Parts: sequence; structure tokens; C-alpha cells
Amino acid sequence: MSESYVYVACTCFRDGLTTEPPVPRSKIVFDKYGNVMQRRSETPEDDSRKLWKWRRKHACAHRYMRIVEEIWSAPHWREGGEAGALIASGRFPHLALVLDRSEVCSRATILAYPELAALALSELDELHRISPQGTTRIVLDEDGNTVIRPVDYAHLPSPGFSSLNDVYENREPDIRWDSSEEKLNQLIEVGFDGTEFIIRNHPGHEEILRSSALRQQADLSDLIRWSIWEYARVTFEDTNSGMRVTGYTQGIRRGGYNVTIGQMERQAFPGRVTATEVPRVWTDDIWALSGIRSFLAASILTGNPLVGYHSNSSLGFEQ
Ligand SMILES: [Zn+2]
Repeated sequence: MSESYVYVACTCFRDGLTTEPPVPRSKIVFDKYGNVMQRRSETPEDDSRKLWKWRRKHACAHRYMRIVEEIWSAPHWREGGEAGALIASGRFPHLALVLDRSEVCSRATILAYPELAALALSELDELHRISPQGTTRIVLDEDGNTVIRPVDYAHLPSPGFSSLNDVYENREPDIRWDSSEEKLNQLIEVGFDGTEFIIRNHPGHEEILRSSALRQQADLSDLIRWSIWEYARVTFEDTNSGMRVTGYTQGIRRGGYNVTIGQMERQAFPGRVTATEVPRVWTDDIWALSGIRSFLAASILTGNPLVGYHSNSSLGFEQ
């Protein structure tokens, strides 16, 4: 599976903290991203197999000698509501630069040197300091763990019914629902009004159940499919009144929206769910902001650049 990644190389070799490398130390140098490689190589990709193997798991505690490496990118960050508009306004130019660079990198690209990382991090702190007041609604499981956060993205309207699971409208014959008409007529929508859950039928949108606490039970042996999405037969029970509703839906699952085929079984349905309000922060508006702090901090800590790449076209080394 191809993904966008960012990483920061560790400094263990420079700091004398690695095991003994399989080639003489005098023959090891650094590439411009801070990765160790053989002097004779143009990039670490050209290194001998034994050095590859050493870097991968024997050199130090860091896999591939990267202090941080995670799936990350910031597509469409400008569309992240108020936060996106504010960053794009020019008030946070260094943060904007890092986000912009991550949007376009396929081959290994330096998103930030430590100096830029430090400026971007201080802008991120400032952005959090001026975070909007107000709240967002989140869904909790029976143990108090967050199932979905946030529900109220700043750029989505949320009066009345706000959906927790979209149901796709298109029933054109060329886009096939893998199901009978009878089952399609049992499609249901799950959403919220305030902190109450609402179950509606689809496509009539009539409310058929409303409750502050729901128990859900999914039958994953009974699925219908549309395009790349799956809907399971789920029974919702109002834990206050005991009233039950059954229909086909993506349900309320960890991770939230749009479960594609094959994911339904892996993303567990929490049994009992409630909703509550918590303070809203900027990272709720732009997913990419939730991870960026640790990357910027790693670059500042190590003095190595923050490198982005797409695994389709790169291993994160110069080519
Ligand atoms: Zn290391």
C-alpha cells in the first residue's frame, strides 16, 4: 500500500550510540537527509545489503535509523475551516510552507530544516494559544474512550441532524449496489442532534429513534455493498427505553466515516455509545496538524531535516 510519509533521521551514529557497523566507520558518511551511507554510494539505496540490514534493525533502537517515521501529509489543508484560512492568511508563513511542501512531494523532499522547523513549531504554539473557544461533540464507548472525534469540524454545518455516517444517494444502474431492493429500502442514517443520537430511514430521512445512549450490535455476515463501501446489518437499542431499530448502515465505529470493503470487520463496533461535548482545538479542523508537532520537534532535537516522500516513488532517499 502506498502512502505519504515523513521522517527524521536519528543521530545515533554521529553520537557513537550504534552497534559496530558491518563496513569500516571511515567508509560511512551522511546523505543530505542525515541518513548514513557508504562513501562509495550515491545514495543509501546503493549501499551493500549488509549495511541495509544493519540500518534496518541492528544499528540502534530506531528502525531504519529514523527517530520518527509516520504516515503523514497535509492535502487540502487550506480547506480546514477557520484554521486553514488563518494559516493561509500569511500570519503563519512557516507552518504554511511546511504544509504546502508536504502536499507536493512524491520523491524525497526536505519539508523543513531545523531552523524552519523551529519557526513552524512556534507558530503552531501560537495557533493553539489562539484556538477558538467553543466545543465539539465526541462519541465515547462504555469505557470512556473516544470513538470518533471530532464530530463538529469547523467547515461542516451542524444544525439539527449531523451525520455520523453518510449513505450514498446514487442508485444509478451503472454503479451497482450489491444487494436486493428490499435491503436497500432498509438503509438507515445515524447522526446526532445535540448530544442525542438519531436514527433515520433512508432516503426518506424520517426519524425513527432518538436516544442519549445507544447499544449497537452488528451482523457482519449480512453486508450490502455499494462501489467501494460496505454497510452491515446493525441493530441499535435505546438503552433507556429498550426500543430497537435494525437496518443497514456503516454504524458507529472507531475511526468514523466511510468504511471501505474489507475494513468493516477490522474496525470494531463499540457496544454502547454516548456523546459529550469537549473544547474544540485547531487540530480538529486540520487533521495534519495533529501529528506535525512531533516531527518538527524531532528535527529541532536532532538537527536533521524533516523529509517527506511517497512510498510509490521513493524510499525516502535521494534519487
Ligand atoms: Zn538511532
